[in-house]
Amino acid sequence: MMSKTIITNNLEETQKLGEHLARNLSSNVIALYGDLGTGKTTFVQGVAKGLGIKNKIISPTFIIMRAYEIKSNNQKIKCFYHLDLYRIENKKDLEELGIEEIMNDPQNVVVVEWAEKIKETLPKERIDIYFEYIDEKKRKITLIKN
Ligand code: ADP
Ligand code: MG
Repeated sequence: MMSKTIITNNLEETQKLGEHLARNLSSNVIALYGDLGTGKTTFVQGVAKGLGIKNKIISPTFIIMRAYEIKSNNQKIKCFYHLDLYRIENKKDLEELGIEEIMNDPQNVVVVEWAEKIKETLPKERIDIYFEYIDEKKRKITLIKN
């Protein structure tokens, strides 16, 4: 297990961290944990940028999942999925998303906000990232690679 803790001092630093992770991916599933406003979506914006996605990343809270096709010459990854499970209340909603199949395809990069809601479904091979609020501009971000 590898674990690393970083303090970011503004949203740009959090985005840069996401971008760096995307350029050095060691797993195709990234599970994010932390309260509202701790910087998860901000981090995902950086991940998307690192994967070469030009679209603006907005929180998918109201639609749960967004898929972004990756058109770059990197054939290893074909699609980026951004999930926000904040509003998920039951297992049935999750099953309809087909999330297990999506995560099982190594050509997909999948980032999940509120990942604790699918604890049993997450693959063992993943990166866990914990977000904590320190003050208005500072966030504590802990990355764990199992
Ligand atoms: P979440 O997805 O965890 O609910 P968001 O990324 O949507 O959080 O929101 C984080 C909010 O905190 C944004 O308004 C952002 O501008 C602000 N913010 C302030 N400092 C930071 C930081 N160091 N990292 C990330 N976001 C920060
Ligand atoms: Mg969010």
